[in-house]
Amino acid sequence: MELIFEKSVEGRQGYRNPCGDIPTRTQLPSGLLRKNECDLPEVSELEVVRHYTNLSQLNFSLDTHFYPLGSCTMKYNPKFTESVAQIPGFSELHPLLPQLRNGEKFTQGALEVLYNMDCLLCEITGMDAFTMQPLAGAHGELTGVMMMAAYHNAKGNKKKYILVPDSAHGTNPATAATVGYEIISIPSDAHGVMDMGILKQKLSHEVAGVMLTSPNTHGVFNPQIDQVAELVHAVDGLMYYDGANLNAVLARCRPGDVGFDIVHINLHKTFGTPHGGGGPGSGPVGVKESLTRFLPISRVEKKADDTYSLNYDYPDSIGYIASLYGNFSIILRAYAYILMLGKEGLMAVSDHAVLNANYIQKRLKPYYKVAYDRICMHECVLSAENQASQGVHAVDIAKFLIDKGIHPPTVYFPLTVKESIMIEPTETESKRTMDLFIQAMIEADALSKKDPDRFKVLPQTTPVTRPDEVRAARELKTNYFQ
Ligand SMILES: *Cc1c(COP(=O)(O)O)cnc(C)c1O
Repeated sequence: MELIFEKSVEGRQGYRNPCGDIPTRTQLPSGLLRKNECDLPEVSELEVVRHYTNLSQLNFSLDTHFYPLGSCTMKYNPKFTESVAQIPGFSELHPLLPQLRNGEKFTQGALEVLYNMDCLLCEITGMDAFTMQPLAGAHGELTGVMMMAAYHNAKGNKKKYILVPDSAHGTNPATAATVGYEIISIPSDAHGVMDMGILKQKLSHEVAGVMLTSPNTHGVFNPQIDQVAELVHAVDGLMYYDGANLNAVLARCRPGDVGFDIVHINLHKTFGTPHGGGGPGSGPVGVKESLTRFLPISRVEKKADDTYSLNYDYPDSIGYIASLYGNFSIILRAYAYILMLGKEGLMAVSDHAVLNANYIQKRLKPYYKVAYDRICMHECVLSAENQASQGVHAVDIAKFLIDKGIHPPTVYFPLTVKESIMIEPTETESKRTMDLFIQAMIEADALSKKDPDRFKVLPQTTPVTRPDEVRAARELKTNYFQ
């Protein structure tokens, strides 16, 4: 009990005169003291602070380094949105409060945020209603495809397949399979988009829907989406939009306007909320009118007297998809981000995301093969095929970049491109940072010609040097630093 310095009943006397003696250290009243020592590790505050500060520095972070991980959109999170998330009226709100009698009265601000965010996302995507509940993009996919299944069941449709392009993120086919559909993979054509001829061959009345990412993971925008939608709707299939790449077309193209029926948005990729290391994320799902009755419960509603409430009374709902109301503080950050930027700011996001990726693609083109040689969207896919002919593979270039203090881009995804290096600078990086990255990539190419064996012992700057990846997978040891 040594460290306790609080005022106790006995000790209060010591405080009586602020200009007098320094008060004596006070004790808790003896009746409140425990009989036995508490079996907790004895560490000082300083030791705890050092422990966590050191732990935080073992992480590679966006606050410290460039992080051009393609598809993941590791962009800077403005500190302003962090300060909004820390407003005590939000951060100290108990999640069970709305369940109590009169509890909604005390949560009107939070419910208003959820309601307004629903309206904003409808406007941004062209959908009719959203659920804020899903906790990540993949969770949004599950929610969306469950609603797709509910739609077909309600109509008595016999559906068996979901079509997914071969460039899709692995979560798309995994989601479709989890909901019980069989997957038909559609190859990409020479331009890097879904092959229309093969799509037509595979479409039938047994197709529940198509899952598309736009722009896709080749960084290519498919200009034929409205035609795809027409074909899919003709067999009463639904169009699912994987919105992980929405930052490329933000405030310019609305998936709801080009024929999509269900969309998920990764708030943590598009609207500047922190992610990485497993979370937290947020994957709101929006639907067209024909599907709103299947949305998960609860749903936030605005009543005639302008107050907000939670409604659970939707008999056709797919039910609960997450406990409580989703990752509220992430939704709140994204809400603050949208209001802070406004329409002009959101357009600047897509402008700069696309401009930055094209700058990198253009400058690296003399050194690396470009997978789809055309103007790209928010990310570009290069290939290390030239370097591989010297024995230097995409993974080796990734290790080289680590030594330069750069998080490697995504490698070996998309699976459709050999030796792929997928670079997404995001809109928040400066030209200077991108130039340093480009310089490092050019050096890697030069070294691949001069001394290819050198790559095999990289990286040199990390606590763990090049791991034996096969052994690491077979003999997984998670307590390395202990
Ligand atoms: C990131 C991503 C997902 C999955 O989103 P999570 O939030 O990581 O679950 C799905 N599709 C694409 C194209 C992605 O980039």
